[in-house]
Amino acid sequence: MEKRYYPISEYLKKTFSKKVYKITLDGGFYCPNRDGTISSGGCIFCDETGSYSRCNNLKTIKEQIIFSMDKLQKQFKAEAFMAYFQSFSNTYKPYSELEKIYKSVFFDERIVSISIGTRPDCVDDKKLDLISSLKHPWIEYGLQSSHDETLKLINRGHDFNCFKNAVIETKKRNIKVCAHIILGFPNENKAMMLDSAKRLAELDIDGIKIHMLTILRDSPLAKIYQKEPFYLMNMEQYCEIVCDILEILPKTTTIQRIAGTGFSETTLEPQWVNRRFEILNMIDKILLQRNSFQGKNYLKQAIH
Ligand code: SF4
Repeated sequence: MEKRYYPISEYLKKTFSKKVYKITLDGGFYCPNRDGTISSGGCIFCDETGSYSRCNNLKTIKEQIIFSMDKLQKQFKAEAFMAYFQSFSNTYKPYSELEKIYKSVFFDERIVSISIGTRPDCVDDKKLDLISSLKHPWIEYGLQSSHDETLKLINRGHDFNCFKNAVIETKKRNIKVCAHIILGFPNENKAMMLDSAKRLAELDIDGIKIHMLTILRDSPLAKIYQKEPFYLMNMEQYCEIVCDILEILPKTTTIQRIAGTGFSETTLEPQWVNRRFEILNMIDKILLQRNSFQGKNYLKQAIH
């Protein structure tokens, strides 16, 4: 069934005229919000793996890429790849090291793009200039919420303004920006979640990843929840808000994730977040019932 939103797979196919597969890489990075530079506790929803497991035990980036390319080629006849640095803050090293790491992915012409996940307070002009010199670069910024009171509550260590400035500087250099947000923080109502979507629409972001707040067993949030459980949305409520957000975003924003691929062993609650296909089907169904689509309510106007 054709999607009523703009999946990243469609964008990649249009841009490169072939199906592009993401290769998740472990560049040996860590996070300033965990090592004591900003704080030592990290974001309250994050566990020791940086919310995502280290991808494998292979040593070099080249070895990781070759391993994944072979696998994807055998499984899907993959022809092109995007190198994706996912875990922790992948700009959190000195410039000279970053240059070596990023450039090392392009040893094979089938690597057509690079995507770097990081924090908005972990980039500067020099690092952005470096990233803009790479092949078809993307940066994924964790934001989680556009509300400063929420960012404080979850111990992000930066505010919305920091994110906004990073996005402006990044887009100035023709680097594509993907933002991550989380729905369902206990202090946020639906209007607040939609405000975050409106602010991202105003910034004309190129991609979005939407997550349901997930309580990982080894996160500080798990301790808070076990002591004092708070309300977590059910699957239907989550999907309804995702559809509202899709309606707010411009048609050009690529949808990079709206349903997770987590592991039930590490997830305390809600367990439904791991039912990826059911979530995707429900979102399709709601949009169909509403006779709606991405961008339906997109208005380029300030919300305050
Ligand atoms: S910035 Fe990322 S890696 Fe660091 S604590 Fe927050 S979620 Fe975890």
